[in-house]
Amino acid sequence: MSSLPNVHQAEPIPTDARVAIDALLQSGDLFRYTAPQDAPVTLLEQEFAELLGSRFALAVSSCSAALFLSLKALDLPRDARVLIPGFTFGAVPSAVVHADCIPVLCEVAENYRIDMADFEARLDGVQAVIISHMRGHTSDMDAIMALCNARDIPVIEDAAHSLGTTWHGRNLGTIGKIGCFSFQSYKMINAGEGGIMVTDDPDLIARAVIMSGAYEHNWKKHTVLHDAFARWQNKLPLYNQRMSNLAAAVIRPQLPELARRVRDGRANHDYVAARLNTSPWMLVPEKLAPEVRAPDSIQFNMVGMTGDQIRAFSDVSEAAGIKVQVFGLSTDNARAFWNWEFLPEKTDLPQTRAMLMKACDVRLPVQLSRADLDAVADILLAAAEQVMGETRAYGT
Ligand SMILES: *Cc1c(COP(=O)(O)O)cnc(C)c1O
Repeated sequence: MSSLPNVHQAEPIPTDARVAIDALLQSGDLFRYTAPQDAPVTLLEQEFAELLGSRFALAVSSCSAALFLSLKALDLPRDARVLIPGFTFGAVPSAVVHADCIPVLCEVAENYRIDMADFEARLDGVQAVIISHMRGHTSDMDAIMALCNARDIPVIEDAAHSLGTTWHGRNLGTIGKIGCFSFQSYKMINAGEGGIMVTDDPDLIARAVIMSGAYEHNWKKHTVLHDAFARWQNKLPLYNQRMSNLAAAVIRPQLPELARRVRDGRANHDYVAARLNTSPWMLVPEKLAPEVRAPDSIQFNMVGMTGDQIRAFSDVSEAAGIKVQVFGLSTDNARAFWNWEFLPEKTDLPQTRAMLMKACDVRLPVQLSRADLDAVADILLAAAEQVMGETRAYGT
């Protein structure tokens, strides 16, 4: 076999970033509120809002900070109940706890999307909802918005891993009241760390801007101004979760790359998915019809295998050079809800648990070549066959 792809390799940052960083290092102007105008963070907010089709954007230190500030901006009372999916990253329930709220978990189906019947059954008494589009898999946003709008429950979209995904042609993160994104290295745009939130609501953005650390009159350096800022001056705590100009300088030159990354990521994913689906032992679930995905990884369920066989499949794949994470089988996995021991209320979610015990996760960085993708698929297909014995005929 030819050389193995490195599925942990990041794409190089565009060289324009180097020029911008050099200028920042020369001037020492790293804080977003030093320059009277046009700081890189401010320009990023304008460009990102325009890219998404939102009125306002606020760049912060992480998507977790954006989720926390979203809950704070909604002015939820202490111990408010916030519904989240049972399949998400540990940062999501953590942001809820950080905001002095109580995470309420709902079931997620075999296709990694929220189980709508269970979601509806748990909505009573809930004061906000965070829809986490885990690994970019979009739940039924039409049904979610209908249920939440009817009850006047605000929806925050955790679109950390969904930048570039659309639903009925609309960008994910712009469907709920607030959308939150991540610039951590494993996401579509990489600044090491960073996050951003978007909303069309002037009061919410004013509150979030001030709480993010726009102390005194620094909010005046945000470009879309309105009365709400002055109204909230000195009324809110300052949590100092601002973004540095250095991060914005790394992010801005990547925005024009997004469309290509999304296109390549989707083509790569769909190519590998079609190959894996030829195996009787693997199934890549279908997306929902209104969704156009922007994947940089692939998830699939093992079919007809015991836990030990799935473990063996993962070991054989890793020995051959491709790391397969089975969400529910790896120790201390931050995406397995039973490891969130910090939750104030425990729930068992048998359906989500069963899914996590057979759901596999493999990174597929967008820059992989067709040969790389074939190498990944070959290893996974061979590992399944080795564990389950030679299959006589595919698809039977
Ligand atoms: C990465 C991720 C987060 C956390 O983002 P940070 O910027 O690291 O805080 C939250 N939710 C999902 C679905 C993610 O993939």
